[in-house]
Amino acid sequence: MNDTDKSREEVIQELLILRKEHESLKILYNDDIAALKLAEEELEENKEKYRGLSEAAFESIFISEKGLCIEQNQTAEKVFGYTNQEAIGRYGTEWIIPENRDMVMQNMLDGYEQPYEVTALRKDGSKFPCMLRGKMMHYKGRIVRVTSLSDITDRKRVEEELIIEKEHAEESDRLKSAFLANMSHEIRTPMNGILGFAGLLKHPKLSGEEQKQYISIIENSGLRMLNIINNIIDISKIEAGLMKLDIKDSNINDQLEYLFAFFKPEVEGKGMKISYTCSLSGIEARISTDREKLYAILTNLIKNAIKYSDHGVIEFGYRLKESQSEINFTRITELEFFVKDNGIGIATDRQAAIFERFIQADIADTHAFQGAGLGLSISKAFVEMLGGNIRVESEDGKGSVFYFTIPYIQGNTENNEIEVSTQTFNEVNSVKNLKILIAEDDETSVLFMVNVLKEYGREILTVNNGIDAVEMYRRNPDIDLILMDIKMNNMDGYEATRQIRSFDKDVVIIAQTAHGLSSEKSKAADSGCTDYISKPLDLIALDGLVQKYFKK
Ligand code: ADP
Repeated sequence: MNDTDKSREEVIQELLILRKEHESLKILYNDDIAALKLAEEELEENKEKYRGLSEAAFESIFISEKGLCIEQNQTAEKVFGYTNQEAIGRYGTEWIIPENRDMVMQNMLDGYEQPYEVTALRKDGSKFPCMLRGKMMHYKGRIVRVTSLSDITDRKRVEEELIIEKEHAEESDRLKSAFLANMSHEIRTPMNGILGFAGLLKHPKLSGEEQKQYISIIENSGLRMLNIINNIIDISKIEAGLMKLDIKDSNINDQLEYLFAFFKPEVEGKGMKISYTCSLSGIEARISTDREKLYAILTNLIKNAIKYSDHGVIEFGYRLKESQSEINFTRITELEFFVKDNGIGIATDRQAAIFERFIQADIADTHAFQGAGLGLSISKAFVEMLGGNIRVESEDGKGSVFYFTIPYIQGNTENNEIEVSTQTFNEVNSVKNLKILIAEDDETSVLFMVNVLKEYGREILTVNNGIDAVEMYRRNPDIDLILMDIKMNNMDGYEATRQIRSFDKDVVIIAQTAHGLSSEKSKAADSGCTDYISKPLDLIALDGLVQKYFKK
């Protein structure tokens, strides 16, 4: 092989090497292009991810450099109302109310990174509470501050509601303690009256006049105590949602006349006058309402008028009033009742509070007038149940007028039953000769009832439990009337009545229920009682029932 041949060989070799290198360079180049493409795609994906995350954020996010905004997310744009063009280059503090700006600036300078509360400011000038959190970061080779602002309006509202609820709870706790202290005084005072004067009555040398005076004190103390107990029961029933309406026809003129006659002696006894006005006549005054509740409201207001005045006239009455319904704006006809006095009046700043339970207008003066601050809140609850509202107009030292409304719904004119009984005990008693069974386990009550009922009876039998009541009736089927206490040992009044009814459908059984509890009344009716009467026994009501079932 000569030189020339060698070099040709070599050239071919070199060419082959060169081609190989070229081939590998080409592969490398193609790989690089593919890698570059991949990197570009990844970058684009990351950008999308970043944008997606930033736009989906519930918070407003800003990036600022040297205090000036260089970027904001879409939430920030939506929440604050600045477009990107308007936002970029603006001072970050402009998103905060002026009063907070110094604090935010200082935190920025200090590099403070904990969240804190500020009030944010929108482009339109409106404000809202925000939690701000800032953080220093490296971004495109620069040091920037990322700030997030999240709206805490809802959280703040819940917090405020909780604070108000807590204050209410504390207030009601305070009122309940005051109520208990007051109640204890209110119950002890009449109790002292009853026990003290009952003790004095034992004295052998009392004159007839003294005896009468002591008995009347005992009677009044008992009534006062009963009133307090009734009020407490009413309030509990209202609070528990157990107070029910009993809508019937009722003549309001008769009710006012009855109240007038009832309170006249007391008012005149205080050297004052009382008058009433009725603006509807006859049949028009017959309305459909819960007459017991109406009666209770008026009684409360008139009692207060008497209690809180010592001169002048107490006037009460009603008028027809046209007004507009707040719900559907139709015209409605209402009856507006009023009770007016010239008494001590109520300071303007106490006029709303007196309708709340346990509250009295003059807290310092509570013991000067008896009362537990329950009457008006019960009246208010009753008025609202009847579909009306109650208010007071009053001037300190000059007197008060209480107004309340109820809807004017005319009653059935066909039904002429008169419900208001002004009859007094025994006035027209023509019922004698009854054989009566008293089922009662309280000895004092038995003694009282025997005394009251002997007026009607030829024979009075007594038992102290349900089992004996059933047995006694079995042995004496000529018994005309059974007064059945509901709460008795061994067998209660419901069960005893049920057993008697299993062999006798006719005998008149009157259940004695605790203070008008409707649950007891309906249970008594279900077990077969003919009627019921509330305890403690009201002589007029008892007489009314005897006349109802036995007057020939
Ligand atoms: P009380 O049992 O204390 O009378 P109420 O609920 O009936 O309770 O009344 C609440 C408070 O409203 C009373 O303690 C009294 O301060 C005030 N008040 C009620 N009626 C009158 C009135 N006619 N004149 C002056 N103050 C009144």
